This record gives sequence, C-alpha cells and structure tokens, in this order.
Amino acid sequence: MTVQLPIYLDHAATTRCDPRVVDAMLPYFTENFGNPGSRNHSFGWAAEEGIDTARRQVASLLGADPKEVIFTSGATESNNLAIKGAANMYAKKPAGETSRGHIITVIHEHKAVLDPCKRLEKEGFDVTWLEPRSDGIVTAEMIRGALRDDTILVSVMWANNEIGTFNEIPEIGELCHENNVVFHTDATQWVGKMPTNVKTDNIDLLSLSSHKLYGPKGVGALYVRRRRPRIRLTAIQEGGGQERGYRSGTLNVPGIVGLGKACELCAQEMDTERERFIALRTKLESMICDQLDVVQINGHADKRLAHLTNISFGFVEGESLMMATKEIAMSSGSACTSASLEPSYVLKALGVGDDLAHSSLRISMGRWTTEEEIEYAGNKIIEAVNKLRDLSPLFDMHNEGIDITKIEWAAH
Ligand SMILES: *Cc1c(COP(=O)(O)O)cnc(C)c1O
Repeated sequence: MTVQLPIYLDHAATTRCDPRVVDAMLPYFTENFGNPGSRNHSFGWAAEEGIDTARRQVASLLGADPKEVIFTSGATESNNLAIKGAANMYAKKPAGETSRGHIITVIHEHKAVLDPCKRLEKEGFDVTWLEPRSDGIVTAEMIRGALRDDTILVSVMWANNEIGTFNEIPEIGELCHENNVVFHTDATQWVGKMPTNVKTDNIDLLSLSSHKLYGPKGVGALYVRRRRPRIRLTAIQEGGGQERGYRSGTLNVPGIVGLGKACELCAQEMDTERERFIALRTKLESMICDQLDVVQINGHADKRLAHLTNISFGFVEGESLMMATKEIAMSSGSACTSASLEPSYVLKALGVGDDLAHSSLRISMGRWTTEEEIEYAGNKIIEAVNKLRDLSPLFDMHNEGIDITKIEWAAH
C-alpha cells in the first residue's frame, strides 16, 4: 500500500474535524439557524435544543453536571476566564493593592496559562512558578511545598502539550480541597484521550478545546464546579449574560454542536484508539532507537499520552531536520514556539541541554494515522538524521570518542 503525502503527524497542534462532527453541525448553519437566546419562538428553541444536547455530551465526557459547562471560544479563553476570573473573585485585597493573593503554577504550562498568570503578577498577585521533575511530571508534593496561607489558586495542566506527560492531578486536587484553594487544570490535551471525572479527580475548573479532539476550531468549554465547593468567577466579557453570566455573547451554535458530537465520539472511541496508538508509537520509537545513536525520548516512559512522542536527536539541527522531512507534518517544540528559533522552553525546563532541545521533534498521531504512515515517517526521519550527521564535524568528533561538551573553543 502506498502512503499519501504529506503525512499529518501534528495532532497535538490541531486535529481534522471528524466527518461525523461536520454532519452534526451542518443543519445548525441553515435550518436551525436561530439564536438560542430567543426564548419565544421555535427557531430559538431548535437552536437551544442543539446547545442542550452538546452541554450534556460535554458534561458526560467529564463526569460533570451539564449546568457546570460554560461554552467559550477555546482553551485560551477558558484558561483566561478560569485564572483571571478566580483570582479576581477570591482576591484578598482590592485592585490597586499588592499581596492580593498567592497563585501556584508551573513553568512548562501552555502560554495561555503562563500569560494570564504573568498579567495577574503585574496586577498585585504573587505567583510561584514551579519546575517539573526532569521526567516532566508535577507532583502533589511539589504543590504542598509551595502552598502558603494566602494561596488562592493552583493551576496545573493535566497532560503537557509538548511531551505529553501527565501530572498528579487527582492528588493535587485533593490537596487543594484540603486547603480551601481553588484548583484549575488546563486539560486540553488530556480530555477526549483519557478517562476524566471532575468529581473523583477533585477538579474545580477545567479547560478544554474542541479542535484538539476532532471538533471545529474556535470553540471550547470551561467546567466550573457548582457543589462542594461552589466556585464563582468574575466574568471577563460582559454583555447579554449568556452562560450564567460567565461568558456573554451569542453562542456559536454550530461550533458548540460540533464540540458536543466530538466529545460523544471520543467517549466511545478513546479506549480502542489508545491501544492502537500505543502499538504504533512503540513501533516508531523502536525503529528510531534501534537504528540511531544519541537519541532521547523526552518525558516519563509510561505516564504520557499514547498518541504523542517527543524525541531529541543529538548532532542534528532541528530546523534542518524539519526541512529534510518536509512531507511529514510534525512539530519542533510546540506550535507556539516553533515560529522562533529559541529552543523549546518546555524541554529546557526538563533540563534537556540546548543542543538536544534544538533538535527535538514532537510527533503526534490521530484518528486516521495508519501503520504505513508511521513506517514511512520512521524511515524518513532515520534517513534524514543520518544524512545530516554525515555533514556534521561534531558528530565525527563524537564518533572518535571526543567529549564535545569538554572542548574549549577558540575565541574569535
Ligand atoms: C492548544 C492548547 C491550548 C489553546 O487552545 P485553543 O483552543 O487553541 O485556544 C491551551 N492549552 C493547551 C495545553 C493546548 O494544547
């Protein structure tokens, strides 16, 4: 069987919309075009019915009550609403003062968490920026060590978007509840891939995004716990009071219907998909590790997403490797940082040296990835790395047994 090029192996950046999701959405652009806020005619009711179904589908994937689901424009907005909304609601002092409350987060979070926290730091909140363990994991013990009397919010992502590692979310949530601290998790990469239950996983606020789980772009949700404890937020966007006042604005009905359908499909298919991904990933990683020296798989070996691997290749420059494997869509670092030539801040946080972090690939599979595609990609990567290393004087020196980290280069 021949593979069709280009091959898409960047599902952690975005996924193709499932055709079944598109089918569910289509009537909501045309026949059912009403505004769900129109409570007094059938056009409004039809749209509202679509929203209600989607809210149930999202809630069911999370083990939540449908009333606890707030629709947003994506995980960036969900994170902003959760973090700024909780900080401002539970602030110990009013705006304009300092020491308004303490927030704990981690340096390998997505920018959509880091930047809201930086903003709050400028606005008088104290922020502790924890570092993950060298295997990428954030433990409850780390959080315990950072808690203070004035801690109001902890935000720790569930699965990391660059290396796929899982943090100790249920344990961190339990710790937060014992200490009356609000707990937010950016679960954008986790939800739809791994079983989730916001109740038993002790989560107060959870962000997710539709386009990471085979739904349309520009739509997402925020879970906001309503009982034990009831979490309240200060809204960022004000207006018509939709979504319990947390997110004003006419709802994106087709998008939300698509998100709901995407969640329903993930609930049905994630277990079999995960098994398949593990087999494919094992194949890919063994091909690469068996045939190449000086490679490193980043992050914890097991506690990571099944469809993703992040591999560093010594003696290869990342951008050259991407150019040499152009027919395979992958990511060097995360999509947000690959525009700059800076080594991935996530890998740096794991203590991966600049050289290795420069040459790492994030390969992420999806619902339609085939074994043939994985074989093709593995062979192509091996061939490209070998070619680039043939041109590398540093690799020659390495092969001659010289430790290049000990070389004192002549200054110019
Ligand atoms: C993709 C992603 C986001 C941003 O989601 P959008 O819906 O594109 O705004 C946030 N956090 C993580 C972990 C992500 O992977």
